[in-house]
Amino acid sequence: EAKESGRNAYRFYRQEMQQQVTERATLEKALHSAISNDEFYLVYQPQVNEHGQLIGFEALIRWFNEELGLVSPNRFIPVTEEIGLIYDVGNWVLENVCQQLKAWQDIGLPPTFKGVAINISPYQFAKESFVESVCEVIGRTQVDSSLLDLEITEGMLVENIASVAEKMWRLKEHNIRFSIDDFGTGYSSLRYLQHFPITQLKVDQSFVRDLTSDPQSHVIINTIVSMATHMNLSVLAEGVEHQVEKDILENMGCAKYQGYFFSKPVKADTATQYLSGDITFPLQYQNA
Ligand code: C2E
Ligand code: MG
Ligand code: MG
Ligand code: MG
Repeated sequence: EAKESGRNAYRFYRQEMQQQVTERATLEKALHSAISNDEFYLVYQPQVNEHGQLIGFEALIRWFNEELGLVSPNRFIPVTEEIGLIYDVGNWVLENVCQQLKAWQDIGLPPTFKGVAINISPYQFAKESFVESVCEVIGRTQVDSSLLDLEITEGMLVENIASVAEKMWRLKEHNIRFSIDDFGTGYSSLRYLQHFPITQLKVDQSFVRDLTSDPQSHVIINTIVSMATHMNLSVLAEGVEHQVEKDILENMGCAKYQGYFFSKPVKADTATQYLSGDITFPLQYQNA
């Protein structure tokens, strides 16, 4: 009987494995034609200051496939990195953000608005031609490059320091800014940070999520905020979902936020309304 159940467990395991392999193959195949089928689009999540004014957007990619539905970037970006499709996808994002930003620039931006953040994959950044391709898009779209904020991860700063720093400094000559995404989850030290032209740390949402329940998270955010202040870096908290979190963060000296409390990521037409509407966040306070 034990033997029988062992066999069943094994068969079940094998079926699971087989299913995973098939799903992965389907995903890869669909990804290969996603750009040409126009299946990607961008959403923009507001970044706001302590007064609830719009200071920027983070551009986030979305993939809708007829067969697979909406697939999370957490799921498909790692696959594009593994199969070498991240370069095309990364360029697609860069191109589309710059076109959109140029259009917004032409309408006129509110005085508090500092620009759009773009997530850059470590693989994309590591490519020899990365700086040239960014400059090429900027030149062609005529976007104001000081409106661009490239989000990189801590992990990128500990490998190939010299070549990473050199690329970042070249981009900084165009007044492009850099933020470290998900800060606190990696392993970069203060020593590493000083080599790079970083302008902002983005406190990872996991710390914000636990802020009210876990004293440790409170201490970690406090440390990041005071460190950023001493290093003359801007600090923005991600994943702010409740008023109480915003209040605690503000008291700690963190005056920039992003999260569902203010707004979920929205499509470009809604983002345009946010830009021209002279509104404050969270949105429900607007007519109060
Ligand atoms: P990220 O860059 O850290 O982006 C923040 C993620 O948190 C987004 O998920 C956003 O929708 C979500 N979020 C924002 N506010 C809240 C909140 O209050 N609560 C919670 N629970 N979540 C919130 P999304 O859009 O699913 O993106 C996931 C990750 O995929 C991003 O994390 C980023 O690492 C990656 N990604 C997204 N777009 C791109 C892209 O264009 N290029 C690259 N290379 N990676 C991207
Ligand atoms: Mg990000
Ligand atoms: Mg993040
Ligand atoms: Mg993340």
